[in-house]
Amino acid sequence: MRRRQFFFALTTTHPPTLPSPEEIALQAGADIAAVRAPQADTLFAERALRLRELAAGHAMRDYLLLLALVSEAQHERARRYPQVRLPDAAQIDASAATGQPLLAATAWPREPLWRTELRALLAQVLQQLPGDSPARATVQAVIGLPDQALEQQADRLLAGITLGLGMAAAPLIAAGLQLYWAHLVAGTASAHPGLWRHLESRGTCPCCGSLPTSSIRRVGPGMKGQRYLHCTLCQTEWHMVQVMCTHCLGTQGIHYQALQALAAAAPTSERAAVEAETCDHCHHYLKLLHMEREPHADPVADDLATLTLDLLVSDAGFTRHGTNLLLLFGDAEAPAGER
Ligand SMILES: [Zn+2]
Ligand SMILES: [Zn+2]
Repeated sequence: MRRRQFFFALTTTHPPTLPSPEEIALQAGADIAAVRAPQADTLFAERALRLRELAAGHAMRDYLLLLALVSEAQHERARRYPQVRLPDAAQIDASAATGQPLLAATAWPREPLWRTELRALLAQVLQQLPGDSPARATVQAVIGLPDQALEQQADRLLAGITLGLGMAAAPLIAAGLQLYWAHLVAGTASAHPGLWRHLESRGTCPCCGSLPTSSIRRVGPGMKGQRYLHCTLCQTEWHMVQVMCTHCLGTQGIHYQALQALAAAAPTSERAAVEAETCDHCHHYLKLLHMEREPHADPVADDLATLTLDLLVSDAGFTRHGTNLLLLFGDAEAPAGER
């Protein structure tokens, strides 16, 4: 195997012995929201801005800019998305009785409108793409996929099956599924307030059962650095205390790994805005973004832009607990526009 050359090394930090913001808030009797339903009216626009910001001078510039166009198109479609069918009382009861996610990615009967919306989204991306962009052919190919083929690709994507999945097309199809599921969850959450109020710590999305892309310590109104995991599909965020492995839920042997530029004149005392929370017990990790260090951090955009951290942490023997549907790894093919 070819050895990779990096301009970065990992620095490891041990968790603080002081209580976390969650512990302090819980001791004070504060009410921490267990679930933050997706805010589709702002989420994709903010992500597009962050992708553009991160793209400047980045090795993955072209791909980040392509995804900025995709996020902008998601935002446009989100503003006029048709009404989606919400779960009925029997489905809600069944989910409560079995503990299965109510809007499970692999079980929920998605409506055909997701395909119409996906094609409209991609038509907008195509309009905005430069004439010589290598991504044009892939976008056109996805728009032209017959319904049945599109559904088959969606099934594989949602089940995490890369065999038979077109890896270049997958992130584009995922963008349409994200939009549909974000509306499904947001609509359900507003029709049934309190549905996801009480939650145990868990490593998968309580609404759709998908894996998180990353986790983020949020600051802002009502939030003081509590950590939320961000769903790769429906964009819901659910609370989990820090210094807890998102894969095995263990609390021992947790460390934080960050990139340290090898060319830096002197080691910096500033902590990185993106770290990998690694677990010595089960050897999994998930990234943790710090909004108090980078106020514009986005769980999807900042994850994509710190791929080097994934490579170094995986070289160190850790497997990612999580996925980013906008950048999937399978067989030899690279994502559209990366080359
Ligand atoms: Zn979800
Ligand atoms: Zn673990």
